[in-house]
Amino acid sequence: MAKSFTIGCKNELARIQARRRCCRMAELSALLRLEGRLHIEGHEQVSLHTESENAAVARKIFKLTKDLFGTNLSLDINRIPRPRKHNCYYLFLGHDEAAQILNELGILDDHLHVVYEVPRRLVKANCCGAAYLRGAFLGGGFTASPTREHHLEIAVSHPQLAEELQALMARYDIAAQVTQRKNLHLVYLKSAPRITTLLALMGAYDCVMAMENEAILRELRNNVNRLVNCDTANLNKTVDASREQIEVINRIRSGAGLQALPAALQQIAAARLDHPLASVTELGEGMDPPLSKSAAYHRLRRLVQYDASGF
Ligand SMILES: [Zn+2]
Repeated sequence: MAKSFTIGCKNELARIQARRRCCRMAELSALLRLEGRLHIEGHEQVSLHTESENAAVARKIFKLTKDLFGTNLSLDINRIPRPRKHNCYYLFLGHDEAAQILNELGILDDHLHVVYEVPRRLVKANCCGAAYLRGAFLGGGFTASPTREHHLEIAVSHPQLAEELQALMARYDIAAQVTQRKNLHLVYLKSAPRITTLLALMGAYDCVMAMENEAILRELRNNVNRLVNCDTANLNKTVDASREQIEVINRIRSGAGLQALPAALQQIAAARLDHPLASVTELGEGMDPPLSKSAAYHRLRRLVQYDASGF
């Protein structure tokens, strides 16, 4: 799943061949709706061209159109050198066949007006709804690399289509949001569970695996970081406390003198001076006889109190 995560997902989804004709119709309808540009010149003068940077997607449009309608789209490949070198695939459907095919695909109505809805008759069955979403993602989808953020979106040119895609996702309990960016309308998902649900629904299981592997790795990394930070924090706390105790002990020594302390406190003071980096537990364990952590801690507190009370 190198290069871009989106390209990886689209390549995987483009390889899926829906078994049923109903699903293939739904998928091609969404693909042409989102990838295609319609040219309508007067009555029944309709042509369609699509432009894709993704060879697998272009191949899929070509193949589905041929399978479903027996039509060969004309194909053109353009090599685009800048800003990054890539191929652009142009598919063209001419006037004589375009109107009929686009009408059957629910992209044009019987009067050859553009339809801004998800065609209900094509997505009635749940298998077809999922296929339509796959086509829509292949046509206008983007998904961020899961190493960076959780974000999947499908961009469409009309607000109604965005809302209908949102409703179609809701049928599968995937709660998407809709927003506008410049002149595009976006249906988007922001949480990993929703994104993986949609990817799985569309059939992108490798992508789901990649996302879940990334989530496991991230959790592992966070756990390790927490452990490391936690150790450092504890060590810092020990050192800070020890520094304060040593200051106290030195003040007492140069004042009343350590011999003025009760024997128990003299003993812990000597231990602390010998072991400035030891934790309270280690300090207690090193005494003769050994002290529990709380007993050692109690003696250290009495030392500090002794210093604070001034005698
Ligand atoms: Zn179906």
